[in-house]
Amino acid sequence: MSIALNNINKYFGNFHVLKNINLKVENNELVALLGPSGCGKTSLLRVIAGLEMVDKGEIFFGQHEVTSVPIAKRKVGFMYQQYALFRHMTVFDNIAFGLHIQPRAIRKSRQQIKEKVQQLLSLIQLEWLAMAYPEQLSGGQKQRVALARCLAIDPAILLLDEPFGALDAQVRKTLRRWLRDLHQTIHLTSIFVTHDQDEALDVADRIVVMNQGKIEQIGTPVQVYQQPKTPFVTQFLGDVNIVHGIIENGKLRINNFWQIISPEDNLPDQDVMVYIRPHEINISKSYTDNTIIGTIHYLHSSGPVYYLDVFISDDDPIIEVMLIQQQALKYQFAIGDTVYLKPESVHIFMQEQLIEFMI
Ligand code: ATP
Repeated sequence: MSIALNNINKYFGNFHVLKNINLKVENNELVALLGPSGCGKTSLLRVIAGLEMVDKGEIFFGQHEVTSVPIAKRKVGFMYQQYALFRHMTVFDNIAFGLHIQPRAIRKSRQQIKEKVQQLLSLIQLEWLAMAYPEQLSGGQKQRVALARCLAIDPAILLLDEPFGALDAQVRKTLRRWLRDLHQTIHLTSIFVTHDQDEALDVADRIVVMNQGKIEQIGTPVQVYQQPKTPFVTQFLGDVNIVHGIIENGKLRINNFWQIISPEDNLPDQDVMVYIRPHEINISKSYTDNTIIGTIHYLHSSGPVYYLDVFISDDDPIIEVMLIQQQALKYQFAIGDTVYLKPESVHIFMQEQLIEFMI
């Protein structure tokens, strides 16, 4: 079932929490709502679920307008960050619960409910825990049971609010891959909320990046990461250095580095903020022409990668360069070394427009 949100606006008192949201989610897509705390992700999910009503705009599920339809009639599965399972019920009974309380006209027989729950237990790979109680489960297992409970009623749409938010990093990583695989099996239009960029990049077909109640960009993980449309998206998705540059006579200059700008961009002379990713910088200890010249201020390793903080001048922020361990070890970088930096790709934004240079 596809979802269309047309010009959605929502207020809490005077606070404008959702501002002109337009979004189309295709049938069977897995979409992430990504953004910082308080940007309106959960509010948008709740609006789609029917837990909150919009002040303006329209919501369609497939061809049907559901803007004023209450949650009970929207056929959505909604899962919270810490979904409360019933403590006094087994895993089996927790999953079966929603099926037992369905209206009599559509309620399944006992045998059908048993088969459905067994199917779901197999889907979440927890058949062996059918008779366990929630307190005997790990956090990740509880969330899988919670998901099975949402799926039991055969929802048309699955909405997940920070489904793995309360779990530790390693379990989150395993579960997000599991969610990806599960989605491939169940083919259900799904939207999940996260503030974790890695989670969104790793799992989603498309990412909706939100900031202050607005959508900043919608795109595939590759699009939002490699072609960010706004400074906010550039900074929110992955690490980025922001350095001062000057556009002069058709050239972009940063320190001793310069790059000719394509004439069709026709940019007037001005100061600009330049965005450079730490892993898109070549660094050398040998003098290289046309480079940013600096000295190593600090270096540290983090697993397979190495970070070098390079000081350029009192007026510029430190530039962070990321290398893989082997490269860093080969050149034996040390604090105080003079280094020459050459960006491989830079982004600048002018009048809301992205200009990208591949060097
Ligand atoms: P987080 O990642 O922290 O959960 P979020 O992006 O999901 O944040 P929302 O929960 O949608 O953000 O909240 C957006 C804003 O709306 C916040 O400033 C919040 O305080 C406010 N808000 C949310 N629900 C209500 C409510 N029921 N009444 C008043 N204000 C609310």
